[in-house]
Amino acid sequence: GGGQEPGANEEKIFVSVRVRPLNEKEIAKNNSCDWECISNDTIIYKNAVTERSNYPNAYTFDRVYGCDSNTRQVYEEGVKRVALSALNGINSSVFAYGQTSSGKTYTMSGITQYAISDIFDYIKNQNDREFVLKFSAIEIYNECVRDLLSADNTPLRLLDDPVKGTVVDKLTEVRLTDWTHLMELLAVCEAQRKIGETSMNEMSSRSHQILRLTIESSPSEFARIGSASSLTASVNFVDLAGSERASQTLSAGTRLKEGGHINRSLLTLGTVIRKLSKSRNGHVPYRDSKLTRILQNALGGNARTAIVCTLSPAHVHLEQSRNTLLFAVCAK
Ligand code: ADP
Ligand code: MG
Repeated sequence: GGGQEPGANEEKIFVSVRVRPLNEKEIAKNNSCDWECISNDTIIYKNAVTERSNYPNAYTFDRVYGCDSNTRQVYEEGVKRVALSALNGINSSVFAYGQTSSGKTYTMSGITQYAISDIFDYIKNQNDREFVLKFSAIEIYNECVRDLLSADNTPLRLLDDPVKGTVVDKLTEVRLTDWTHLMELLAVCEAQRKIGETSMNEMSSRSHQILRLTIESSPSEFARIGSASSLTASVNFVDLAGSERASQTLSAGTRLKEGGHINRSLLTLGTVIRKLSKSRNGHVPYRDSKLTRILQNALGGNARTAIVCTLSPAHVHLEQSRNTLLFAVCAK
């Protein structure tokens, strides 16, 4: 179910922020970093003393990571617990949210590999249960769902299954065997994403990617009597479209000119997350976008959610960075 009922296991969304380092171009233009992490949970805007603004200048989240951080840290300190909960039958999702070029793909691909590596390790050391891993990958572009493991570009339909909830019809689901196999599948996804990109401008900044690992387990023949029955849960690694696609600051004129500029899935995700973070009672508009429909069972209810918000450090990106931080504040 959609999980509107508050349950005993209900947890807040784990929210972290990561600032990427300045790149060579930014350094060549003498840009400096606008943001400083003054503790492991608080980030401040460094120029606040000399500028007046209506925005807050200090933000506190579950964790913040400066430009000297590594993805291993970002994964270990919070995201890991969320991702691995699928081993215990609890659905989860991990999101990267931020403007284009702020480090979403860099961060999420590292997180995905650390998590799946940990899942392989865990399974190897379990004698009580038999595990089956299934991998699937989709892209959502302009509210069209595409299978990243298939050469067929036909948009896939969403169906409502009475037991499973929303399912993607005809989606390829591959039984994942080992690390080499995972690397092969990730390469196929990346190649499929690139094919789209040559035909459609800026596709990766406008599209969402969901990599889903479904974990099924049942007691093995060596299991102790009384061990839990079969469990199925999935962990979703979500690399979102650039958050500039959800910017509220665009003028009406800009919106009219660029029809595809506003991203329905991204806006709906924002609404869903704000509703979930405030209270889990009342209507959550999961059905308003493809992204939130597909992820409904992995958002809210007993599901676990982590969001890594990525920032570009340079001053030219200040407005977008502030928008990203406001999103992160709303998710808390
Ligand atoms: P996005 O997916 O948000 O558009 P990317 O992940 O593609 O952004 O990052 C943009 C560029 O910055 C890439 O070349 C990437 O390798 C680099 N980058 C991003 N984050 C980091 C980081 N934390 N450390 C080093 N390089 C990074
Ligand atoms: Mg990207």
